[in-house]
Amino acid sequence: MKETLKRRTDLIVTLVFVLAIVAMVFLLRKETAQPVVEVTGDGLYNPGTYSSVAMGMREMTVTVTFSDTAITDIQLEHEETPGIGVPVCESMPAQIMELQGLGIDAVAGATLTSNAILDGVADCVAQAGGDVEALKAITPVVEQEEDQEMTADVVVIGAGGAGMAAAVTANQEGKTVIVIEKTSQMGGNTALSGGALNAVEDGSEMAASTKDSTDLHFQQTYDGGDQQAKPELVEILVDKAWEGVEWLKSLGMEFEDTPVTVAGGMWQRGQKPVEPEGSGFFKTYQAYMDENQGITMQYNTKAEELIVEDGVVVGVTCTGPTGNTITVRANNGVVLATGGFAANREMVNEALSTTDKWPAMTDVVKTTNTPAITGDGIAMAQAVGANLIQMENIQLLPLGDPETGSLSGNIGHGPVSYIFVNKDGQRFTDEGGRRDDMTLALFEQPDTTMYMIMDSDTYPNGDELNNFGERICDLVDAGRAYKADTLEELAEMIGVPAENLTATVEEYNRYCLGGDMEGQADEFGRTLFADVDGINNGLNNPPYYAAERVPTVHHTMGGVEINTETQVLDTQGNPIPGLYAAGEVTGGIHGTNRLGGNALTDTVVFGRIAGTNASAFTK
Ligand code: ADP
Repeated sequence: MKETLKRRTDLIVTLVFVLAIVAMVFLLRKETAQPVVEVTGDGLYNPGTYSSVAMGMREMTVTVTFSDTAITDIQLEHEETPGIGVPVCESMPAQIMELQGLGIDAVAGATLTSNAILDGVADCVAQAGGDVEALKAITPVVEQEEDQEMTADVVVIGAGGAGMAAAVTANQEGKTVIVIEKTSQMGGNTALSGGALNAVEDGSEMAASTKDSTDLHFQQTYDGGDQQAKPELVEILVDKAWEGVEWLKSLGMEFEDTPVTVAGGMWQRGQKPVEPEGSGFFKTYQAYMDENQGITMQYNTKAEELIVEDGVVVGVTCTGPTGNTITVRANNGVVLATGGFAANREMVNEALSTTDKWPAMTDVVKTTNTPAITGDGIAMAQAVGANLIQMENIQLLPLGDPETGSLSGNIGHGPVSYIFVNKDGQRFTDEGGRRDDMTLALFEQPDTTMYMIMDSDTYPNGDELNNFGERICDLVDAGRAYKADTLEELAEMIGVPAENLTATVEEYNRYCLGGDMEGQADEFGRTLFADVDGINNGLNNPPYYAAERVPTVHHTMGGVEINTETQVLDTQGNPIPGLYAAGEVTGGIHGTNRLGGNALTDTVVFGRIAGTNASAFTK
């Protein structure tokens, strides 16, 4: 009995002792935020230089040099996208070296690039005999800095397309500007877009050759959104679009000579930047800031709450990079440009619950958006009395990556050059039609999956890029696109009946080749068979290409209500003094369905108006 008691007491003492040590280790860890396994001391690595090939936007070679105790050098050979991946390639190796660890978060909007660097270095660590898991457990120790106050003439919240257009415009008005951005770089969704913005110059040669006008742009935008948009805002959008392009050109941005038809854009008026994706906008805005003083970029800083004094919005309270509070005040106005809410599942599902437009399963589809696009600005504006309009107007695209929902891997250059087929090898929609119509049609297809089919007119060689800066040969190598010399082989690769695919293409080609069906709409209502250069002579130039695509949430057309001066309106329809908004955070510009290519026009046109008017505002 005594013996048992003693053994039990011994056991309890041992247990308490072990628990105490565990608790001490835990507390010590918390206090110093040190990694679980500390990698210091001799013999951590087999010294030398090791290389690894990782997949970012394209293949990159990561070369790491180790001493026996440390990572001493990281070199990258890459072709990542300027303005999106390149800044990460510049900053992340230094971060890893400083930390001597791999517990670093991927940069929102540049996850592919970030993960490629982290994976490449991890592989080199493994090759050098290091402990990869231990290094992944090392995270940066952040010491909270003191709270801070900052003041500028104009405060812009969000460094995406609209925010940067507003910031540069305000600076051109002679104002100092602080731009608050919650991620570590500018760009937002704008940077991830295909890059083209709809704009037509009335009376120009190009407008004549494409039979285009601002009136047609207005009509297509207004009707394309089922006439739900505020017409006075649509008028501004189309009337000021070309001026916006000229402004961008005056800042040095370059565009292709011939406009494109953006998917769901309905007309050939997409002015396509020379740089891939939306990167050209940010390269341009950065170049402006390099040349001109007065714009302060406040990165890794999340705007939390608008400051209202005597009914006027005078600034914003933010959480800074180290968790400190940063209070930013404006001498003039505040511009809200935080984008939409497509990456906020709860808000999207709430919006979907108020409309029966989309099938029930829409509440699980992924999004094209960066994770930062969570509707923060909408909540902030609502908290100071702003009216929200048309929140139920959510746009889905039929062009999402099956794994991630993103637009990456989309091989389409424009609907003029492709068809969509379902898993039976059959077409099911007008590829030149409205985005909502195309996506609704896709929801009805087997497994809600389709393949985009193209030929070598678009990709004459493997180095040719898609709209997202990806080389077609890399997409094929990565298994994200398919390439075959014949339609039969392509059909086999993607698992659709070959006889159906060949028959589908044959029928489609009848409309493109200027034969009996020339000038007519096909059974799906498609009339888009040739563009201004007449490059579309059907799908008959092998090798052929295919890529799988699924529905994805893309744009939220609802948001904060504004007037033609971009002043945010309250629930009574009165402007909230000091508060301006532009871009996807606003509602009422696009109606139920946004034309492809109109979002970037929206950012430039309304961003510029907001920048001008916030500059002119006085308390
Ligand atoms: P738009 O097309 O309307 O310009 P974008 O998606 O391009 O919208 O850009 C919105 C930007 O706003 C993104 O860079 C995003 O990280 C930023 N953002 C969103 N919420 C906040 C917030 N609370 N504080 C600061 N920046 C934010």
